[in-house]
Amino acid sequence: MDGSNDRLDAFWMPFTAGRQFRAAPRMLTGAKGVHYTTEDGREILDGTGGLWCCNAGHGHREVADAVHEQLLRLDYAPAFQMGHPIAFDFARRIAGMAPEGLDHVFFSGSGSEAVETALKVALAYHKARGEGTRTRFIGRERAYHGVGFGGIAVGGIVNNRRHFAQIVGGVDHLPHTHAPEHNAFSRGQPAWGAHLAEDLERLVALHGAETIAAVIVEPVAGATGVLPPPVGYLERLREICTAHGILLIFDEVVTGFGRLGTPFAADYFGVTPDMMTLAKGITSGTVPMGATIVSGEIRRAFEQGPEHVIEFFHGYTYSGHPAACAAGMAIMDIYARDDVFARAAALAPHWQAAIHGLRDAPHVRDIRNLGLLGAVELEPRATGPGTRGYDVFVDAFHRGGLIRAAGDVMVLSPPLTISAAQVDELFAILRASLEAVA
Ligand code: PMP
Repeated sequence: MDGSNDRLDAFWMPFTAGRQFRAAPRMLTGAKGVHYTTEDGREILDGTGGLWCCNAGHGHREVADAVHEQLLRLDYAPAFQMGHPIAFDFARRIAGMAPEGLDHVFFSGSGSEAVETALKVALAYHKARGEGTRTRFIGRERAYHGVGFGGIAVGGIVNNRRHFAQIVGGVDHLPHTHAPEHNAFSRGQPAWGAHLAEDLERLVALHGAETIAAVIVEPVAGATGVLPPPVGYLERLREICTAHGILLIFDEVVTGFGRLGTPFAADYFGVTPDMMTLAKGITSGTVPMGATIVSGEIRRAFEQGPEHVIEFFHGYTYSGHPAACAAGMAIMDIYARDDVFARAAALAPHWQAAIHGLRDAPHVRDIRNLGLLGAVELEPRATGPGTRGYDVFVDAFHRGGLIRAAGDVMVLSPPLTISAAQVDELFAILRASLEAVA
């Protein structure tokens, strides 16, 4: 054993240096409202909504009760060739919230699975319509679409790609939209950069539209450091996709369910894609679930095909899991009852002012925000990128604030139920940590 603690040896932690963690573990043992409690009894203000997912805040008894009752009534049922009511009811509920035209929901167990599903739908859709030459995908630099092979291939994170991206061919990438010389410290959407969407025309000219199945983007890139789209950029992607028969997929795993103050980013930007991938906020992180929501046109193409037994050769054991649907239903009730999305919209100006208040803190080189998303980008140390961010994360944790480090970018996505005073507290902790680590 290379760490200091036997109890911690068996769980191989995701995206973690296990030895480093075991030497100084950070253990969360409880959560209520916008706070975690640690094993040693401290309160930690949740600045990240868990992992961009706990939009409704923590510890809702209604959710626990709904899952409890569902498990006693029907704990599990297959969704292949048979059904259970709550999956249909929950799909209708999600479809009812989604932008006009997106109304068929394919359930899965995570954001990664939702992305793989969307990519497979795109290929199968074109094939069903007799356009089987459309097999190419276009992603974007600095995109995160989960850890499936498809998601990694369309994603734009070098450490994911250099190890695992070679398995899926036929993928190109649009340039990312972050250009500090033009859009550093922009508040909300940067004014500069809509023209970067024109790169899609270049890729169409290079490959031929008839070879391109879909374009996938996060409306606001999240995990790679919160990059809001330039004004007009998503609109232009939509126009180009429509003109060339290319499907547009929005990965709304982070932006879905109120993060920008609207149900989906598609609503915020007024741009409707052909598919959206969802997870995280769909159950506010309480029970694992992903979903891919598609347009009626896509759904109908499958129903016109020759298959009578199986129309789409795809599915998961946990597609539409009763416990996840029950949790999701209860969470949607809370979002509606407490007007959670509208509260987030109302708090966004305060959030923006508060995060930009860190501009004069040590080593800050950019600040970005949209809705209740934010990023404070730090100058990397000469000794190694990512180390300053990691140290700030650890320091903030000891001061009572949970803030994520994406390399040297401190990323924030608190529960949408956070108050203005708690926002101020969060940024006071971050300032203290920036000063301490400097
Ligand atoms: N897409 C996006 C935009 C994400 O941010 C994430 C997770 N952070 C995923 C997909 C993958 O979701 P999961 O971790 O649930 O597989």
